[in-house]
Amino acid sequence: MDETNASKIQYQYGLETRTIHAGSRPDPVTGARNTPIYQTTAYTFDDANHAADLFNLQTFGFIYSRLTNPTVAVLEERIANLEDGRAALCASSGHAAQFLTFFSLLNPGDEFIASQNLYGGSITQFTHSFKRLGWTCNFVDMTNVENIKSSISVKTKAIFLEVLANPGGVVIDLEAVAKIANGAGIPLIVDNTLATPFLCQPFKWGADLVLHSTTKFLSGHGTSLGGAIVESGMFDWVGNADKFPTMTEPDPAYHGLTFAETFGDFGFTMKARAVGLRDFGPCMSPANAFYTITGMETLHLRMLRHVENAQVVAEFLNSHNSVDWVSYAGLPKSPYYDLAKKYLPKGAGSVFTFGLKGGYEAGVKLVESTNLFSHLANVGDTRSLILHPASTTHRQLTDAQRDAAGAGPKVIRLSIGLETSDDLLYDLDQAMAQ
Ligand SMILES: *Cc1c(COP(=O)(O)O)cnc(C)c1O
Repeated sequence: MDETNASKIQYQYGLETRTIHAGSRPDPVTGARNTPIYQTTAYTFDDANHAADLFNLQTFGFIYSRLTNPTVAVLEERIANLEDGRAALCASSGHAAQFLTFFSLLNPGDEFIASQNLYGGSITQFTHSFKRLGWTCNFVDMTNVENIKSSISVKTKAIFLEVLANPGGVVIDLEAVAKIANGAGIPLIVDNTLATPFLCQPFKWGADLVLHSTTKFLSGHGTSLGGAIVESGMFDWVGNADKFPTMTEPDPAYHGLTFAETFGDFGFTMKARAVGLRDFGPCMSPANAFYTITGMETLHLRMLRHVENAQVVAEFLNSHNSVDWVSYAGLPKSPYYDLAKKYLPKGAGSVFTFGLKGGYEAGVKLVESTNLFSHLANVGDTRSLILHPASTTHRQLTDAQRDAAGAGPKVIRLSIGLETSDDLLYDLDQAMAQ
């Protein structure tokens, strides 16, 4: 190989270029430059042998859009690329991605460990609905990683965390947790929704699977539900075969193939698709994939502005005399400031919480008094959003769970958007005056 070729192979485009180009190319038939919405349920087979090979997973191609779709495939490749992963799979929502992940890992009777600082809906899913499937989640305070070690048992099959947690601005020591997971021979699963691959790439620190609610910053405009599972390709399923029969035992529906051995470093993605999506069906629609692809093309620009505005608003609240405390990892007084510098060097995201001196009543009054901030349950929109978690997203939790998750009665959650920062300060100031 001559030197030009060698340098071409080693050259990797920057993250900004890849948010725009990864996974997509002009349509080979029409030349359409943008990714078309392949609004089709099914795809014609070349002949009966081709059909048989597709159904046996012996060749790659499109059969039916519950399994694969060309528009969704572009998004999957783009997300895998930005995370530096081996492969990705998209689902109808972040929660669907979580379900498919655990379905691909666990059998009834298995357990996993999750951080207590999670999106409220994840805590509910893990606590109640997963329990009915025979999967037990043990929540621990991962701000002290020693708590994880003491919770691992022979039944533990995975560790789950949000590196930048929703809602409390908590940052977990990812590298330390990855070492523990690795030592125990179980995968570390990171929900990277609030950080996005622009702010943090968990595989770099030893994570094995990354999950996204693409509903949030990836699609970025509050238009489309979606989720993604990304696989690093580094986890040794075969070496830990006693723990993961779902990955290493022959699958009767596919003539006895084993996902870990047949597909190697993208075996998990294949399992989640060829069994999980096939049998449960929470696939992403091609239209939602299109909106998400389009939104992601400005991810790098949006995230810069999100964190810049968040920093300004956090500093303003921090010195405001109606505010009791601000929990934002970008403030030097935050206990998570140093971890944020390490794992989120470009900024500590744009979702954080603060407490009003007036407590519960003042909090309710505040969310009802903003004009520019929208009072709703979402994050990662271009618009700034305000919410009282205790009465909404974290409503179904117990008081103790709410306090542990940083969503107690006095807590207000903000998701800072892309508006003029002075306007955000003005709106919060007038609302607090009321
Ligand atoms: C929203 C969210 C989810 C759930 O995603 P949906 O797309 O709403 O199903 C999971 N994790 C985090 C961190 C979230 O913010």
